[in-house]
Amino acid sequence: MGKRLSIVVSVYNEEEVLEQFYQETRAVLEELPWDYELLFVNDGSWDRSPEILKGLAGRDPHVKLISFSRNFGHEAAMIAGLDHSGGDGIVCMDADLQHPPACLPQITEKFDQGYEVVSMVRTKNESAGWFKNLCSVGFYKVINVMSDVRFESNASDFFGVSSRVAQVLKKNYRERVRFLRGYVQNVGFSKTTIQYEAGARAAGESKYSLRKLFRFSVNTIVCFSNLPLKLGIYAGVLAACIGMVVMIYTLLTRNGAPSGYATIVVLICFMFAILFVIVGIIGEYIAILFTELKDRPIYIVEETQNLDQTVE
Ligand code: UDP
Ligand code: MG
Repeated sequence: MGKRLSIVVSVYNEEEVLEQFYQETRAVLEELPWDYELLFVNDGSWDRSPEILKGLAGRDPHVKLISFSRNFGHEAAMIAGLDHSGGDGIVCMDADLQHPPACLPQITEKFDQGYEVVSMVRTKNESAGWFKNLCSVGFYKVINVMSDVRFESNASDFFGVSSRVAQVLKKNYRERVRFLRGYVQNVGFSKTTIQYEAGARAAGESKYSLRKLFRFSVNTIVCFSNLPLKLGIYAGVLAACIGMVVMIYTLLTRNGAPSGYATIVVLICFMFAILFVIVGIIGEYIAILFTELKDRPIYIVEETQNLDQTVE
């Protein structure tokens, strides 16, 4: 029996592109020597996407569908796809055709060569705009400095993993606050990269606002680095040193305390600013601890279609 490829596609209000995505992807998959399944995860869409997906699943047994009870986010959708996939190789991709299906044969080739993690690196992102691209570069610089693990800059949510790696992700990376593509790059196993050009969205609009991206960046830093927590110690040492110098200076010059209202106000504001920032940082970590502790489900499945195997 040949190998099987699972394509996991997260869908959130993508009615305009779904049919086109399906046609283009199927055309590529039919040519592959691998058997395949197309696993769509409907992440609580409220447009016509669910009907379109049901239609596809009704006429093509290769198409499988998982529908969430509400919107849980792109990563939750990918995790659900990994959980329910039955292939020897699993590829996560977006529904908007920014991840070209034409790359799939390259990915299966890498799987055939024995690679277990295929990370797709985009060389160009036409649709994102200079500001988003700049933020993305800055984000990877910061996270690589702050964390012990290495992140490929420009890695995307387009990646392929073997069933063995999917198993590891499924069993050991069930965090509520997470960075899936970071885990994929850091599980080890034999890994390779393929470059691709991210074209513009085929239709519809981006579901990621700048605010969401900012939240996402903060979470990732908190997830992968303890450095911000140590900021308090550094700030404390720095303040102590400054205090010491001022004290010695005052004692030596023996002209008493300088009569500076402004100096005092500025100093107090400055010190409190540092203090509040540190309290805020601790708050971020506590918030994440709290979220993990509550242990709420990563996603809730409302219904499935064509899904033969069950997942514990
Ligand atoms: N998506 C999702 N849930 C969300 C937001 C997005 O499943 O809450 C899907 C979306 O349908 C698309 C993919 O994630 O298939 C990437 O989203 P988008 O293209 O909007 O992001 P961008 O490419 O602009 O970063
Ligand atoms: Mg996109």
